[in-house]
Amino acid sequence: METRLRLAIQKSGRLQEDSLLLLRECGISIDNGRDQLKAGARNFPLDVLFLRNSDIPQYVEDGVADIGIIGENTMIEKQRPIERVLALGFSRCRLSIAVPRATPYAGIHSLQGKKIATSYPNTLRQFLAQHDLEADIHEISGSVEIAPNIGLADAVCDLVSSGSTLFQNNLEEKEVLLRSEAVLVASPQLSGPAREILDKLLFRIRSVLAARQYRYLLMNAPNDRIDDIIRILPGMKSPTVMPLATEGWSSIHTVIAEESFWDIIDQLKAVGAQGILVAPIEKMII
Ligand code: AMP
Repeated sequence: METRLRLAIQKSGRLQEDSLLLLRECGISIDNGRDQLKAGARNFPLDVLFLRNSDIPQYVEDGVADIGIIGENTMIEKQRPIERVLALGFSRCRLSIAVPRATPYAGIHSLQGKKIATSYPNTLRQFLAQHDLEADIHEISGSVEIAPNIGLADAVCDLVSSGSTLFQNNLEEKEVLLRSEAVLVASPQLSGPAREILDKLLFRIRSVLAARQYRYLLMNAPNDRIDDIIRILPGMKSPTVMPLATEGWSSIHTVIAEESFWDIIDQLKAVGAQGILVAPIEKMII
């Protein structure tokens, strides 16, 4: 029987959409399966299992799923012996301790003896132990941010990305326990044939992730400016320079990291680059 790789992703919640988008960009089409527990890919030996986020580490450990996509925060909290294979660059957030704005806070020792509400008791316990602190951990499964307002806790330990939920609840972020993003995890039970499929999938994912970070840059310039332009470009290799139909002019093409584009654009214009175009890259084979 043909081996198929079983990938667990979130049944509902904020990781699901980006996980499915990543598969789509890897050229893997999943039959519409959002309401099902399991859906097969038509053009790749992969089945997707839609599971509760917090259950995924256990299923991956047991080998019910071969691999999974979860937040690194969940992986750390669940303390399961699963392999962190690759960081995926989405769902970036941090796990932080926040206290009501009106509460005086004179540093981490202000947490001594306090009651802290969280859905991440293991991570919090470890953090407190590292700092020789004792606090009362109150575990709740959702809406942690309202706990101080209803008198349930003195502080919260919760996930933060923009900080707007904390702000709306009059809370101030004081300590960052960890930074997290979505990660691909693999089972310790992974079979040889499943590992081979995983390697093919990883090749595709890496190409998609690399492409997301880079842009294709094209510009025209008089030939006597080409050397100046090349000096500015932080390209992967030397850029391509091609003559234009207009005598004495060339077109210069290169690939640059999206984050460095805004830093160099003014310099490029200053040395005579014209008609600058920036285009997305769909896949980048690395
Ligand atoms: P949820 O959809 O709320 O079950 O969250 C699933 C995962 O998404 C969490 O385990 C985190 O890795 C991530 N996440 C949760 N909250 C945030 C947030 N505020 N910003 C970014 N990622 C988050």
